[in-house]
Amino acid sequence: MGKINCIGILTSGGDAPGMNAAIRAVTRSAIYNGLQVKGIYRGYKGLVTGEIKDFKSQNVSNIIQLGGTILKTARCKEFTTPEGRQIAYDNMKKEGIDALVVIGGDGSLTGARIFAAEYDVPCIGLPGTIDNDLYGTDTTIGYDTALNTILDAVDKIRDTATSHERLFFVEVMGRDAGFLALNGAIASGSEAAIIPEFNTEVDQLEEFIKNGFRKSKNSSIVLVAESEITGGAMHFAERVKNEYPQYDVRVTILGHLQRGGRPTAHDRILASRLGYAAIEALMEGQRNVMIGIEHDQIVYVPFTKAIKNDKPIDRELVNVLRTLAI
Ligand code: ADP
Repeated sequence: MGKINCIGILTSGGDAPGMNAAIRAVTRSAIYNGLQVKGIYRGYKGLVTGEIKDFKSQNVSNIIQLGGTILKTARCKEFTTPEGRQIAYDNMKKEGIDALVVIGGDGSLTGARIFAAEYDVPCIGLPGTIDNDLYGTDTTIGYDTALNTILDAVDKIRDTATSHERLFFVEVMGRDAGFLALNGAIASGSEAAIIPEFNTEVDQLEEFIKNGFRKSKNSSIVLVAESEITGGAMHFAERVKNEYPQYDVRVTILGHLQRGGRPTAHDRILASRLGYAAIEALMEGQRNVMIGIEHDQIVYVPFTKAIKNDKPIDRELVNVLRTLAI
């Protein structure tokens, strides 16, 4: 493996608040260590089309507080084919890029793993997704900001739910993972969360009606993780209309507003630490790992482990929610 002189950085897949803080941290740590930095635009698409620019320290000035990603992001079908990855590799070499730092979710890290295996290119991944669904890290860049956005929204919905004495199903993101729904429910004082992880075990709606929805309460809010597995908030509202017609039910789908906004202090610090650690890892000769954080310590997680394993939901959180919702 040759010496690394120049790194390329890209953001890929779903955007997440804090990606800019990560771009800044990677860029400045690399420059600090004497490396050249190239910004690759629109994820893997920019590697395939050659949309690549030199990055200096000033290119990442004044971005730590911004949501979204200054490098833009995209989904790139071509990169999923061997022909597309060959073009990407040729462009990388033409630009003199020796290693890649990829900030993204499960799909983006899968792409990095395949690319690294085919071309012997050192790749480091940073977990950038609001869904928190990557194994081997306690949290991901963007998750805390999205949680706080959910709280803002649910606090507002609570005002109207209480005034009208209604049952609200609020659909949150998560892409088949229940972290946003479950922790969002605990933090917002919601009555229940319906999450894909428990879908096959119990009828979560029936359980909620039986245990949680008390006559003594004049409103109820249930967070539902957006997922084909659960069927989403509309599905449960329909069921209530048919099976429990005595309840006045409404649905709010929070949608893409969960992806935007200024990153919280937590996400900015996390992104800064992970970005710094990505360059430390490369300098140490690490490759093909995701940088994660466990018990507040930086950890290196092999791509295969981060991608293949489902991150488990802590069952104690369910008990906390249930107990506090009486
Ligand atoms: P996320 O990173 O948020 O999970 P996606 O699943 O959409 O987002 O993946 C982002 C991009 O990563 C894809 O558009 C594609 O370019 C690349 N990618 C995903 N899966 C693969 C794969 N199996 N092989 C090669 N590239 C992939």
